[in-house]
Parts: sequence; C-alpha cells; structure tokens
Amino acid sequence: MSDKEKATPAFKLIPGTGFLVDGFRFPSPSVKAYFLSHAHSDHYTGITDNWSAGKIYCSEVTGRLVVYLLGVKPEFVHVLQLDVPTDVQGVEVTLIDANHCPGAVQFLFRLPCGKRYLHCGDMRFSPALLSNPHLCRSQGCTAVYLDTTYCNPRYTFPPQEESVEYIAATLTALLQQNEKRRLFLISTYVIGKERVLLEVHRRTGKRIYVTERKLGALKCMELPGLAVEDVFTTDPRETCIHVTQWGFLGDTWPYFRPNFVNMEAVRAEHGVDEVVGFVPTGWMYEMKRRTFPVREKGPCKIHLVPYSEHSSYKELRDYVQFLRPAQVIPTVGVDKDDNGKSAAAQLKHFRNLVMLLVMSSQKVQ
Ligand SMILES: [Zn+2]
Repeated sequence: MSDKEKATPAFKLIPGTGFLVDGFRFPSPSVKAYFLSHAHSDHYTGITDNWSAGKIYCSEVTGRLVVYLLGVKPEFVHVLQLDVPTDVQGVEVTLIDANHCPGAVQFLFRLPCGKRYLHCGDMRFSPALLSNPHLCRSQGCTAVYLDTTYCNPRYTFPPQEESVEYIAATLTALLQQNEKRRLFLISTYVIGKERVLLEVHRRTGKRIYVTERKLGALKCMELPGLAVEDVFTTDPRETCIHVTQWGFLGDTWPYFRPNFVNMEAVRAEHGVDEVVGFVPTGWMYEMKRRTFPVREKGPCKIHLVPYSEHSSYKELRDYVQFLRPAQVIPTVGVDKDDNGKSAAAQLKHFRNLVMLLVMSSQKVQ
C-alpha cells in the first residue's frame, strides 16, 4: 500500500489530541487513543482478534460487541459511561447517544484550551436528543464531524416509528389471515433494526428466529425490559418469522434488485404457500411516494420499507442549525483524492448554518 493510501483521513483525527476516531486501519505510534463510535464494520475495519495497538475507547455495549464479534482481548477495551464526562489523557470526553444502532455514541471532546469537537460517528438526529444536556454543551463547538450519509435534499424518509408500524401492522394483518401458510423474512445486519424486531414480537406475541451469532450479538445489547430468549429463538421450525442476513432478499445498492431465487428456495424448503419479505433500508428511498413499494413474483413478495438509522437531509440541517458549530466536517461520501470537491459539494448545504466551512481534505484548525 502506498503512503498516500495509508494517510489517515482528517475527518478521523481530533486536532491537538492525538486521538483517532473509527480509524483502526491507521494505527500509529503517534496515536494517543483510539475511539470506536459503534460496532458496524465500516467503522471498526482494522480491528482483529490480535489488535494490540492501543486501548479502544467505546461504550459498554460496543465494548461487549467487539469482544464477542471480533474476538478483541478485553484488556484492549476501555469502556466509558454514557453522559459522564471523563478525563482521557487530559481531554474531557463525553459519550452521547447517537440514536443509531445499539451502543452507538457521539463523542464530545473538550480540550484544555477550550476547543470542543463533536464527532457524531453514525447518527440519526431526533428532536428527543435535544434534551441531552451534553448536546447543549456542544452548541457553538469548534467543529462537528457529521454523518453525511444522506446529505442531499432528495433523501427524505418518514420517522422510524412510521416504518416500524408499517412492518408490524402488515405482518400482523397477514398472520391473522389463515387461508395461506406464510413465512415472513426480515432483512437486517448483525447489528441494527432491533426496533423493528421488538415491535413485531410485541404485536404478534411470536418469537423470532435468528442465527446463533445474531443471538449472541443481541445478548450484548441492552434491549428495553426484555430477556433476549423471550423474543428470539435459534430454532427455525419454531416460528414463521425469521431474520435473514442483509442481501438475502436482494441487493440494495445502488438500487434494489430482488432475489426471488433465494426466496423461492426458502419457500420450498419450508413447504409454505407464500414468502413475505421486508427490507428496511434508507438507501432506496429517494422517491416521493406515499405508499411503500412492494415487489412480487408468484408466491414471493418483498416490502421495501424506508427505515433509516442515519439522519435525513432535513434532520442533518436541523442538527447543524441546533449546534451552530464553527465548522462542519463531513465524514461520509468524501473522496480524499478529489481535492476537496466532494466535501465542498456537501458543505454548501450547511453554508448558512455555520460560522466557517472547512474542506475535510484540509487540515482542521
Ligand atoms: Zn453505522
């Protein structure tokens, strides 16, 4: 790998600290502390079971997940409590809920010189976050490192509750019709979309099939008021509601292409009349329609449901408007080799909301 390829992107470095956020592909003696915002693979890339470059600072749930999923030795995990400002090498660090997947946090770094940096990791802004006093302490910060996954006005999607309701209500209504034997498939990553699964369980009273690996990951999380074994089972014959791995029902990028071959195989294997799939994702949703699309072929149907654990375009702007930072630094969709062009295209969306804009390829002040 060339030196250029190895260069740590500026949007992973916190100036004046030697701290690196979600940058495990770039271990270096000059890094004073490694921070992990959450346990999604695009953020923990570089962590393996023999990670030893330094302690990984993260939330309790994320700590358990990296030990379970990646085999990281526990002595390399340093858990920080949510909402408790903690001194890390002379810098005050506060973990703030990111409303993303279980364990996901934003990091507020307060330096002795008074500079404050908010690194969002991946996050979905919600007005409910604004009651967090530590987010209020982030207002007017030196820079916000922003999850710009959907930084384009064409990305609008409904509140998560609406999407969860759609899946739970559709599935419950079909369950109550007895004329056909059906198998329901819900696509998820190893971590994420737990809110959908919990609501489906609550409404139907049925346990949901997951793999042993997914069950182990669910045990690492803190599910509100429920025992994991009461909600999930690893016996596929026990229930007609199954979680399938992401991509099984079709590829979602750059547009959705259903995989009816997989669905038909599952239908035959389970001997049911119909297979109904649900794909909750933000990626396909840039259309301005009121109903959610359904794709079908014979006895196989797929409901495409806009469900995002990242901020919509409007939510991104609302968040920046609330924070009023001096700088916005995009962390997603930025090409570090295009002389700042992609970052500039994103930053124009926040032009009137910040005091100063900085290209992510430039050095952060
Ligand atoms: Zn994520």
